[in-house]
Amino acid sequence: MQGLPFNERTKRTAYFWGVVLAIPVLGLIWLLRPEEGFIRWLYPLFTLMCAIWAWRLYRRDNLNRIELETIAVTSGFFSIKFAYYLFWGNLQQNWVEIESTYWVMALVMVLFYIVLEARKGLAYSLALVAITLSLGLLRLGGEVALGQNRSEFLAFARDEMRLVAMAGLLYALAIVKDQLADAHRQVLQMHTLARTDPLTGLPNRLALSERLEEEAHRAHGLYVVLLDLDHFKQINDRYGHAVGDAVLREVGRRLRSSLRKGDLLGRWGGEEFMILMRGENQHDVLAAVERLREDIAFWPFEQVGAVSASFGVAEGHLGDSIHSLVERADKALYQAKHLGRNRVELSTA
Ligand code: GH3
Ligand code: MG
Ligand code: MG
Repeated sequence: MQGLPFNERTKRTAYFWGVVLAIPVLGLIWLLRPEEGFIRWLYPLFTLMCAIWAWRLYRRDNLNRIELETIAVTSGFFSIKFAYYLFWGNLQQNWVEIESTYWVMALVMVLFYIVLEARKGLAYSLALVAITLSLGLLRLGGEVALGQNRSEFLAFARDEMRLVAMAGLLYALAIVKDQLADAHRQVLQMHTLARTDPLTGLPNRLALSERLEEEAHRAHGLYVVLLDLDHFKQINDRYGHAVGDAVLREVGRRLRSSLRKGDLLGRWGGEEFMILMRGENQHDVLAAVERLREDIAFWPFEQVGAVSASFGVAEGHLGDSIHSLVERADKALYQAKHLGRNRVELSTA
């Protein structure tokens, strides 16, 4: 199934290029304005952080941790920048830097809402507003009362209002995002549920059929193994349905534990299981199936003792349909039953 547009891979790629591009931009600013104290000392540090993030994103470290760290460091860094330009040096000259910090704050807010769920995003955004608002008021509030820096104060008030509006707007979008993510999770759950057999937890007939459909066009080297427990009705009759169910679960466990990588095991229905395998040659595949037969027949089952199963194997041919493949496996299974059960038969058709 396809994920949402904001799936982990897309995010990782977007972040990676974001921080990689930030490195030359920060470096360039550092080169162009070495006289600025803040830029001279803190930009190299921030550039280094970007390089580390890029490396960790590339290494596929836990994405959520990188995200949380990034928003913590970035909001801390730009809050310091904001305070620095507000209280250090000439306010009129610094105003360009202060204004540009507002833009970055807005971007950091977007990041909050991408990384966090809506409410937390709102809380963090408002915290950012509170920081800038209190710093700004501390610096400008008194002066405006004295009739100084009026135009800066107006710009400050406008920027703060923009930031608050942005926090609200993003919150509304984030609610929709969260709802979409919830709905998507539910669809995924339903998708899995519809393809899982509740008794054994294995893929069910639908899941097997879908995989068969996908694989059938590459029929060469594909093997369908169908197995049916021997005299299972007697187990039910003698020990009851619940014990029969426990046997089915145990068979599922045993088969699963000896599967090879890439094999798909599922419950085809009733006391029949199916395994889809890929193999280089018949000999290896039959040896693998023989081991599965032994896994069931060799060790006694709790309460019921010996249980065995018969196996039918069909190899995919060019032009096979699901129907023809399964039919051949079924015929081979019938043959295995006919020849005395607890054995593996390969379809010769
Ligand atoms: P054979 O060796 O010819 O396969 O003999 P058999 O007794 O296994 O015959 P058959 O395959 O016709 O019987 C299957 C039995 O499996 C009948 C049915 O009651 C039982 N069965 C099917 N599904 C379940 C299930 O989910 N739980 C339990 N306990 N029994 C089931
Ligand atoms: Mg049966
Ligand atoms: Mg049976």
